[in-house]
Amino acid sequence: MATWDETDQGEETCSNSGAVYSVTYKSLPLKDDDSFHCSCGELMRSWRETGMYMYSLVSEGE
Ligand SMILES: [Zn+2]
Repeated sequence: MATWDETDQGEETCSNSGAVYSVTYKSLPLKDDDSFHCSCGELMRSWRETGMYMYSLVSEGE
């Protein structure tokens, strides 16, 4: 089973709601064109590269 490199990107905070996400970057064999929006609807990141960003909620903010 193939595994792809994952890199810890630290945490990012939504400028709108204050929610905190732990971000992991994962290398992919194909180009990924995607984006991530906070649960409040704020665009956190968009990308088009051979990898993807995975966000997991750490804190919902204030
Ligand atoms: Zn938010």
